[in-house]
Amino acid sequence: MKNIILMGPPGAGKGTNAKRIASHYGIPHISTGDMFREAIKNKTPLGELANKYISQGLLVPDDVTIGLVKERISLDDCKNGFLLDGFPRSLPQAEALTSIGEEISRPIKYVINIVVPESILVDRISGRRVCKTCGAPYHIRNMKPKVEGICDLCGGELVQRKDDNEETLKARLHEYHKMTEPLISYYKNLGVVYDVDGTKDLDELSKDIAKILGE
Ligand code: AMP
Repeated sequence: MKNIILMGPPGAGKGTNAKRIASHYGIPHISTGDMFREAIKNKTPLGELANKYISQGLLVPDDVTIGLVKERISLDDCKNGFLLDGFPRSLPQAEALTSIGEEISRPIKYVINIVVPESILVDRISGRRVCKTCGAPYHIRNMKPKVEGICDLCGGELVQRKDDNEETLKARLHEYHKMTEPLISYYKNLGVVYDVDGTKDLDELSKDIAKILGE
């Protein structure tokens, strides 16, 4: 059972690596950030609420986020595994996930912690672009599309996320250090943390992760 959490600060490459891992193992990629952005795009009540926090670089309240994830990982397509990207981000979220995992017999087996020095994160975030249509990630220097501004996969327009600006990034990094980084110790105590070097080239990093996760 490949029940995996991908952890790391904003800009560590969680989304990009998550897509690769999920497609390699044929498991759902569950990104709470993507779920919130979809809700914002569709102007749902959840989207309106989440937007208030996301636009300031703050965490969306735990009860909202936990409910969303509980529902998602209980679905049938998660029975052979799932990959969480951007969840949990606080101790109450991690504790809730542990009890949900026990309740539905889907415990977390691997926490892949992508380690990247802070100096690199700002460049990664400021150069990041995403496809407006399919969400595929790019970078204006390190992961360029074939045609500038256009998604290789679907031809959609590449845009910058609204929260990928320097000021919001500061708040997001602050939230990461205060709320999320302590989870590494929480999961180390459970013996499921595997650190990987997020400065490596993407293919090499994928190989490192595959070695940890096995077949
Ligand atoms: P991400 O796409 O993972 O960088 O998430 C974008 C934003 O969505 C974050 O900066 C938070 O405001 C919000 N968010 C995503 N996941 C969570 C979570 N697990 N808990 C609280 N807020 C979240």
